[in-house]
Amino acid sequence: MEINKLGEGKIIDLIHSKVLITNPKIVAGIGDDAAVIEAGDHYEIITTDMLVEGVHFSMDFTDAYHLGRKSLAVNLSDIAAMGGEPLYYLVSISLPGHTKVQFVEDFYQGMQDLALTHGAHLIGGDTVGAENKIAIAITVTGQVKKDEIIFRRGANPGDLVYVSGFLGDSAAGLKIMLAGLRGQLAPEIESYLIKRHIAPEPRLELGRILAINRLASALNDVSDGLVKKVWEIAISSQVAIKINPAAMPISAQLGKFSSQLNVPAIDFALQGGEDYELLFTVPPEQEARLAKYQLPVKKIGQVVARAKQGEVCDLDGHALYDEGFKHF
Ligand code: ADP
Ligand code: MG
Repeated sequence: MEINKLGEGKIIDLIHSKVLITNPKIVAGIGDDAAVIEAGDHYEIITTDMLVEGVHFSMDFTDAYHLGRKSLAVNLSDIAAMGGEPLYYLVSISLPGHTKVQFVEDFYQGMQDLALTHGAHLIGGDTVGAENKIAIAITVTGQVKKDEIIFRRGANPGDLVYVSGFLGDSAAGLKIMLAGLRGQLAPEIESYLIKRHIAPEPRLELGRILAINRLASALNDVSDGLVKKVWEIAISSQVAIKINPAAMPISAQLGKFSSQLNVPAIDFALQGGEDYELLFTVPPEQEARLAKYQLPVKKIGQVVARAKQGEVCDLDGHALYDEGFKHF
């Protein structure tokens, strides 16, 4: 059988099933945004993400600086999704021989500018030549206090579901570039949406606020579409989750994009990927405390029952996500 019949989730399940020997220091291995390792009075967090030219990015739609920045941002987002703070990163990159030296300088500048705002430091990596495509694999380490960590698996029935920022902007920005829609919208709307795609902000500060104040029971970053990420919390926590599509936080810019191009903003918010916002569940008794922080977050649903594990549906009970949804 070929891997595209299985899909990404099932391949990871297969790999997971091969992990026969474990070590008591591994608090979380495969199955969360990052691995969590026992380290005395705190936990170490380690995560890796890979970006391949033609799959995750095209040099027609970004530049070396923003590619470097985003490659690190997606990894920092997984540290944020554990409530942690980043420490170090390693960068492995394969580059075709015709790559300009300036590309390398700009790529590393983009990473460094983002890294320094979050206190992360480059400590190594690997460089190899490639036939024709660029591939980037970054590993980030971080740390979090033991009583502050937030896993995907902590949601309980009755908890409320929240998301930060706006959803769907990044997918709209990508659509503008892919479908050749440049020039059809007001320049400030076009540049906002494209920026949301090529320069996502990892929500590390928000992750820390949730962690330090123990406001969230489960946490995930919205790297793929929202509904898939809700499903990941539901399946890890063995609960079902109801989402209110009408409550999706949609930016004014996505609203304009949607009305001018006659495409439903809600589809971008629910299914679009790469917003790198934080999705989290809040125990009802913590809601009043959360509100006091006046964070840019919005309530979008509720954890309902343990009966149908992993189910993600709207308020009328219609399914919003099924596992076979995304294939290779
Ligand atoms: P995220 O979207 O948060 O980056 P992924 O969906 O990429 O997470 O991965 C889900 C889980 O599966 C993570 O714990 C990740 O470390 C693990 N994983 C993904 N690919 C592999 C692989 N090839 N080998 C081992 N573990 C993997
Ligand atoms: Mg993640």
